[in-house]
Amino acid sequence: MATMKDLRGDAPTWCPGCGHFSIMAGIQKSMIELGYEPHEFAIISGIGCSGKVSEYIRSNSFHTIHGRSVPIAQGVKMGNPNLKVIASGGDGDGYGIGLGHFVHASRRNIDMSYIVMDNSIYGLTKGQTSPRSEHGFVTKSASSENKEYPVDPVCTSIINGATFVAQGYSGNIKQLTHIIKRAIEHRGFSHVNIFSPCVTFNKVNTYDYYKERLISIEEPFHTRDAAIQSLREHHGLVTGILFEELRDDYQTKLGIDFDMQSVQSGEMDHERLTLMQE
Ligand code: SF4
Ligand code: MG
Repeated sequence: MATMKDLRGDAPTWCPGCGHFSIMAGIQKSMIELGYEPHEFAIISGIGCSGKVSEYIRSNSFHTIHGRSVPIAQGVKMGNPNLKVIASGGDGDGYGIGLGHFVHASRRNIDMSYIVMDNSIYGLTKGQTSPRSEHGFVTKSASSENKEYPVDPVCTSIINGATFVAQGYSGNIKQLTHIIKRAIEHRGFSHVNIFSPCVTFNKVNTYDYYKERLISIEEPFHTRDAAIQSLREHHGLVTGILFEELRDDYQTKLGIDFDMQSVQSGEMDHERLTLMQE
């Protein structure tokens, strides 16, 4: 069984106290507790401070261009269905330039997890407003306060058909690990949005901010409407597994779910393999 040492990649260069450390640890703990080895995972990341996670966790990995972690991850899963695939990135990467991919992945339901490190700011480029920055948010780099309203990530994935939607917080690693494990085990597209304070540039959405406001739920809501209603009532600040539904994933619908060993041993049905390679 893999240990934390086995899953350690390059030494992180994140700022001390950055919320992303807990998310990385949550992914590593989940891999260990579920009994996976590094070669059984692929982590695909986008651009931003969060994008470095694919280098910091030892596994198959690909650090791709801005906003494209989800389509690359979908391709990896289609190419090798035996891999557990995680796409990861920040709120700027996933809910800005990558928003279209996120919506389509939600409705497509390929078996993979999308873990978003949501710090409501662009951290790597030194603190600009992001698609998740609050209305009225002020940064050093802008001439005035934010005049736009933030994207609502979990309501977006719920509305667009994602079969597993959850929200976590970097300050609660126990809950976070539980959520990530369940997301990895879920068969279909699982979306996990994680409030992850940027201690260097975001002086509004801090650990104290979340500690005072977040409420957590023990059980998922039974319907998409109920989940959305609760999220609206609590300004989106609800953590836990919000909604889960069991539905055939994309590979099952295409009939290309198979054991990689059957390909390697030559037993793989030629027609199905051709379909996969197209
Ligand atoms: Fe984390 Fe912000 Fe530092 Fe980036 S700039 S490593 S998001 S604390
Ligand atoms: Mg960000």
